[in-house]
Amino acid sequence: MTHDDPVATRRVELGERLSAVRARIVRACETVDRDPAEVTLIAVTKFFPASDIDLLVELGVTAIGENRDQEASAKLGSVSRREELTVHFIGQLQTNKAASVVRYADVVQSVDRPKLVAALDRAAAAHGVRPSVLVQVSLDPDGLGRGGARPEQARALADEVRGCDHLQLRGVMGVAPLGADPGQAFAKLREVAHGIRAGHEGATWISAGMSADLEAAVAHGATHLRVGSAILGSRQSHR
Ligand SMILES: *Cc1c(COP(=O)(O)O)cnc(C)c1O
Repeated sequence: MTHDDPVATRRVELGERLSAVRARIVRACETVDRDPAEVTLIAVTKFFPASDIDLLVELGVTAIGENRDQEASAKLGSVSRREELTVHFIGQLQTNKAASVVRYADVVQSVDRPKLVAALDRAAAAHGVRPSVLVQVSLDPDGLGRGGARPEQARALADEVRGCDHLQLRGVMGVAPLGADPGQAFAKLREVAHGIRAGHEGATWISAGMSADLEAAVAHGATHLRVGSAILGSRQSHR
């Protein structure tokens, strides 16, 4: 390897970090007797360039997450093997961005209110697509904080998604609150997920866990992990 080739250097760096994350997932699954094949790794590429996404695809990544519409819509046009990727939108979403998001997002994970459900359904119909949707559940003790519907409202929101012809209800997403035990938060999320699944058989996804808490998420039934900095490095230096 030539160390003065920045692309080659970055490929090695991403490859090493990705291997380490994959090893963590395998270990976490072994600990709780789960099959790693049940867990989808989503590389969260916000703040990082399209060239990094290209390298991740070369390294076998099949799903990426983005949290800002403007950045994602601009960036994804330059990704060379876009058709090999599932794109997850994971950020707070204004209704007036729904039309833009359905153009590139295969999955919208951050659906947290009825108005957004309606806007996404209309936008999906207009664009001729049928994106997958997760209901984002707030896991903060006071119900708010990092986005999401209150746990007691999640079921009704899931019913609304289910009633939309152009959206596919897949399950739930949650972010563990800062400074609290992520295991407790993910246990709550799993409980909400099971409540929703009781009414909607296809709603089997639980998106939980990030760089710092993916082990706890795996232990509490996560099917999708959203991992950014552990793969791509600190976002600070890229702002
Ligand atoms: C940025 C982000 C992540 C990834 O966080 P890391 O700590 O970098 O792994 C996961 N989920 C959401 C909703 C995010 O916005």
